Amino acid sequence: MRPFSFTKAGDKATAIKVISEAEEGKFIAGGTNLLDLMKFDIMHPGHLVDITGVAVKNIEALEDGGLRLGALVSNADTAYHKEVEERYPLLSHAILAGASPQLRNKATDGGNLLQRTRCYYFYDPATPCNKREPGTGCSAINGYNRWHAIFGASEECIATHPSDMCVALAALEAKVQVTGPDGDRTIPFEDFHRLPGNTPEKDSNLYEDEMITAIDLPPKGFSENFTYIKNRDRASYSFALVSVAVGLDIKEGKIKEVRIALGGVAHKPWRNKEAEALLEDKKATKENFETVADAIVSEAKAYKYNEFKIELARRSIVRALMQAAKTEE
Ligand SMILES: Cc1cc2nc3c(=O)[nH]c(=O)nc-3n(C[C@H](O)[C@H](O)[C@H](O)COP(=O)(O)OP(=O)(O)OC[C@H]3O[C@@H](n4cnc5c(N)ncnc54)[C@H](O)[C@@H]3O)c2cc1C
Ligand code: SF4
Repeated sequence: MRPFSFTKAGDKATAIKVISEAEEGKFIAGGTNLLDLMKFDIMHPGHLVDITGVAVKNIEALEDGGLRLGALVSNADTAYHKEVEERYPLLSHAILAGASPQLRNKATDGGNLLQRTRCYYFYDPATPCNKREPGTGCSAINGYNRWHAIFGASEECIATHPSDMCVALAALEAKVQVTGPDGDRTIPFEDFHRLPGNTPEKDSNLYEDEMITAIDLPPKGFSENFTYIKNRDRASYSFALVSVAVGLDIKEGKIKEVRIALGGVAHKPWRNKEAEALLEDKKATKENFETVADAIVSEAKAYKYNEFKIELARRSIVRALMQAAKTEE
């Protein structure tokens, strides 16, 4: 690991001031991703700003009926929070499908959003990687790309975003609260992460000197009809090959609102709102669910080793919708 300097910030203003003035500064929260990246010499910040002492560690009610998750709340405390379990079980289930109990105790909600891809070439400094070193090329496109994207990739990068939590947040249409030298702003979840395009080194639309302070959940939590399915190589401690978060609002046998977000398939949690709309005012039947799944995967593009993900995604979407609708027909 390369040498770096370190500040422990006690409040937001100090954290922002130090990061703005630092050369190659990075916030550190739980450290469960950043420290690995530093040890592997993938990221080498010159200065770390520890934000674990900054007072954004509560989960509190919002005036509109939603819930605010402080950025420094641990993934475990979020998943087991009574309100989250009862009103946003989709989020609880998604978080608990990720990592391990020890990691979830340490990992924070803000850090979860900014964890980096698990593309094995990104973690191997001996290979070209546009995300790690822009302009060097992408080893995955013609390499072993079993874990890689089937939606929204570019010629520059076909990596996927590895988070489970973020797939549920995309389905719930959360909002990310951030603060920086120019003040506070709110980023809708769908605009938070980026597709790779020709700047794969940028994972999100957060500026380098901005800090996530909270994640706001809207009042609607789909607590009656929801599911999170995660397909992976091992039953635990493994990232998603394809995951699906579903929230349904069903009234008098008809679907009034539907959210379908996919993980493990794109550079960001993947939604297709036009396809979702095909289910509005329709009955919750397998046939209708197959129609929407077909529409979603019709836009998929596979590489040499990840063709299987397309059929896996199609079947997982149908199964997730049936589980959420509590139907077998
Ligand atoms: C072995 C292993 C298995 C895992 N399995 C899964 C899995 O199955 N599913 C899953 O979803 N995740 C998984 N994870 C990832 C884990 O969830 C993340 O590492 C964790 O959520 C990151 O949070 P952190 O607080 O530790 O972030 P850190 O490592 O401290 O930071 C990560 C990044 O976020 C930035 N950052 C952190 N907080 C803020 C903030 N408030 N504002 C601005 N920037 C910030 C840091 O600068 C850094 O760039 C796994 C991790 C490991 C090590
Ligand atoms: S897919 Fe992206 S992260 Fe992986 S090697 Fe290519 S550029 Fe790097």
